[in-house]
Amino acid sequence: MTAQVNRHTFDEVMVPNYAPAAFIPVSGKGSRLWDQGGNEYIDFASGIAVTSLGHLHPELTAVLHEQVDRLWHLSNTFTNEPALRLARRLTESTFAEKVFFSNSGAEANEAALKLARRYAFDHFDGDKTGIVSCKQAFHGRTLFTVSVGGQPKYTEGFAPLPGNLNHIEFNNLAAAEAAINDGTCAVIVEPVQGEGGVLPATPEYLKKLRELCDKHNALLIFDEVQIGVGRSGSLFAYQAYGVTPDILTSAKALGNGMPIGAMLTTSKIAASFVVGTHGSTYGGNPLACTVADKVIEIINTQEVLDGVKRRHQLLVDGLKRIGAKHHAFKDVRGMGLLVGAELVDELAGKAKDFLTAAARHGLVLLVAGPNIVRIAPSLVIPEADLEEGLKRLEAVTAEIMEKAKVAKEAQPA
Ligand SMILES: *Cc1c(COP(=O)(O)O)cnc(C)c1O
Repeated sequence: MTAQVNRHTFDEVMVPNYAPAAFIPVSGKGSRLWDQGGNEYIDFASGIAVTSLGHLHPELTAVLHEQVDRLWHLSNTFTNEPALRLARRLTESTFAEKVFFSNSGAEANEAALKLARRYAFDHFDGDKTGIVSCKQAFHGRTLFTVSVGGQPKYTEGFAPLPGNLNHIEFNNLAAAEAAINDGTCAVIVEPVQGEGGVLPATPEYLKKLRELCDKHNALLIFDEVQIGVGRSGSLFAYQAYGVTPDILTSAKALGNGMPIGAMLTTSKIAASFVVGTHGSTYGGNPLACTVADKVIEIINTQEVLDGVKRRHQLLVDGLKRIGAKHHAFKDVRGMGLLVGAELVDELAGKAKDFLTAAARHGLVLLVAGPNIVRIAPSLVIPEADLEEGLKRLEAVTAEIMEKAKVAKEAQPA
């Protein structure tokens, strides 16, 4: 018997940079989770848009078991079959011709940003090191990616930060026009801002960025770490928008829980990462690549992608119905199965309260900032589970509205 651990153990032995829920999930199946006490939850979070095929998907479990019994790790002094198969599949399914594997989204973006600087260094004279990104954007937590990200609170106290970064307002065409110039080596954008509030880019905005990058010889990087791998209803969101980037980054759902990230690009751009310029010990690990290859095989089918669009409609309709009945949400938005419900002003700052209350009602939710409840279920969540989750969410919403009403009535006039 292993030593007993519980939520208090976290406070005793873990660095306090997270504030995890009061319960500890110990097992899962499909879109359901169970905690240490045997309580059951509907999973509307998917480990932050990661377990897009649900927990313990039988085909993923099968290929992982097979690889576990064959080979775990080699390092990049060798290549390996699962990495090559996955890279072949990714290049055949996208604009890309070359792939670099990492272990996380931040590392995929770190590679993309370094490659953009290096490409400009190789091909252009003068100072072409500028990186343009968006306010409220999220690109990861390494010092480079967090500095490129657009939330100042995440870089507070970590200076000195990497230089020549410029943050512009998302979806603002004039701001892009003013910021992007011949000194720009890259523009990085999330086609749908995830952490920043579940905000889809307008098609005009992405088209404008593409035009400006072409005009000024800058590389356009799409960070699809959260919206990619089917969540948008297309394999990658750029395909739905009809705007092709020069570099695309993926992670989260790519491994359905196995840690993996990928940077996809063209042969011409990839050529700047000559031997020795960049690397990763674990990147391209056979266990992670085996699972990711099967993830893409399953998700990149009409059946699954159409299912995302159908579930989007069910989810959005359900949220709008709950919002209207309880006067709780002022906006319901998103793309595919990345959906946000923005709370009415009366509930400002209370998104986290939804999470806490949801746990008591057997539901796992996400937030995106203080005012947005974010929902990112499995792409193949059974429609009955989706309905049940919405039912629980309605109970949560009713409870929170009731509390807000009581608090308001208790206030002195
Ligand atoms: C989660 C996320 C990242 C960072 O990925 P990690 O695997 O946590 O490093 C980067 N970009 C976007 C858009 C994300 O949602």
